[in-house]
Amino acid sequence: MYSSVLSGVLHGLKAEIVHVEVDVGNGLPSFEMSGFLSNEVKEARERVKVAIRNSGYELPPQRIVVNISPADIRKSGTGFDLPIALAILAANGLVDEVNLDKTVVLGELSLDGSINGVRGVLPCVCAAKEEGIEKILIPDINVNEGKIVDSMHVIAADSLRNAVRYINDGIIDNEENATSDKSMFNRCAALDYADIRGQHAAKRATMIAVAGMHNIMYMGPPGSGKTMMAKRIPTIMPDMTFEEKLELTNIYSVAGQLGDCGGLMKERPFRAPYHNVTRSAFFGGGMYPRPGEITLAGKGVLFLDEMTEFKPDILEGLRQPLEDRNITIVRMGRSYTYPADFMLVGAMNPCKCGYYPDRNRCNCSEQEVKRFMGKISMPLWDRFDMCIKTEGISYEQLGDKKHGDCDALDSSYMKQAVDRARAAQIKRFNGRNIMYNSQMGGKEIEEFCRLGKEEEKLIERIFARKHITARGYHKILKTARTIADIEGNDKISSANISEAFYYRGIPEIAIH
Ligand SMILES: [Zn+2]
Repeated sequence: MYSSVLSGVLHGLKAEIVHVEVDVGNGLPSFEMSGFLSNEVKEARERVKVAIRNSGYELPPQRIVVNISPADIRKSGTGFDLPIALAILAANGLVDEVNLDKTVVLGELSLDGSINGVRGVLPCVCAAKEEGIEKILIPDINVNEGKIVDSMHVIAADSLRNAVRYINDGIIDNEENATSDKSMFNRCAALDYADIRGQHAAKRATMIAVAGMHNIMYMGPPGSGKTMMAKRIPTIMPDMTFEEKLELTNIYSVAGQLGDCGGLMKERPFRAPYHNVTRSAFFGGGMYPRPGEITLAGKGVLFLDEMTEFKPDILEGLRQPLEDRNITIVRMGRSYTYPADFMLVGAMNPCKCGYYPDRNRCNCSEQEVKRFMGKISMPLWDRFDMCIKTEGISYEQLGDKKHGDCDALDSSYMKQAVDRARAAQIKRFNGRNIMYNSQMGGKEIEEFCRLGKEEEKLIERIFARKHITARGYHKILKTARTIADIEGNDKISSANISEAFYYRGIPEIAIH
């Protein structure tokens, strides 16, 4: 007796629909599996047998052959447990095969017959839709993820027993387990730039950086608010479009990091990996490839606190994805490309003790300061359009609420400025492969950062006096463009250039 059930397999951030075929027959009791399977999939054998028994189904001793096709796709993951179990039950006449027709099935089984969540439900739903399949049977914990795609009938089950019941009763959309649409990131709702007193320059720099998606480095002594500043960045980023939300949710689905709510992600991510992060957790990879931090930070912020503490191979490895906005991982002869489209935010002390150039507190020699700065290589510094010094907060600023001249710079004010600049950029880059000022190349800079005579003279003067490199020159123009956009001006002014020069990436001591 033969039966076939549809399922899905992940490849990178996409999924492909596969057929799980089962044949049961007389002969010596056995359980064989074929179809280019990883060990993870082969282990389904024991789980499925025990789960079927513990769900109360009596099967006669029989020879079971499972094949997952097409054979040229390598299958990994634990999501094949449920389709294999259902196909075995269907081949034994215990599941109504007609109702399982054109249904993609995913789910991992526990030995007691309950169904555990799996990663990658969303890309499987998208793949199903592309093939004209409108029904999907998934673990109930993944139900909100399954419902993201319109017009898909979602059957969500918590156990093999219930899954069989829903199929045999012909249920094509069970709402009983669907929870209300919740967003997984409510974390930053309570944060606001109004919480930070003083630090006017750093707040303004942050606003400009976000407006043009410029990578920014905060440099300052311990306790000067670098982390507070960075953590609030998601509160002023522009809202995501539906396509961006879908793309991001897909990444988290594949990584198995959608969390309990599992619905469409609404807020931009803020990822802050620790110094001891492994290469594969950071860049992506592993035995069964998954996206890493640089991909999970997509559309949002990758924050490297105490950046000089990260291993050199992690820091240097960042240069390529920062340039290409994606990363390619080769695993078992197949290559996977994940997007790496994030805003890089770094924080560091200016020296080993943290207080340079405050000579009352810092005893580091110039040589030691240089060596400390050198942990961030020059090519990596080149990826930062902006660097801002954070000051130690003075006693008066901490205590006095009324003092706050800069409390006007709260998250809502800053977000409005960002949105204004964003709108200007959408218009400017319409039809190009660029979204933000920070992504402009030489050609775009020439086209969109044209200067008047007076501004030209100013930048020449700066250029001659400060030994700015060509790259440094471009950074200043790109940042100046964003400042003008915030102000709603087409033309870049001298003031915009001077301000951009003040933020230009590399600190002097690192160069000389
Ligand atoms: Zn020092």
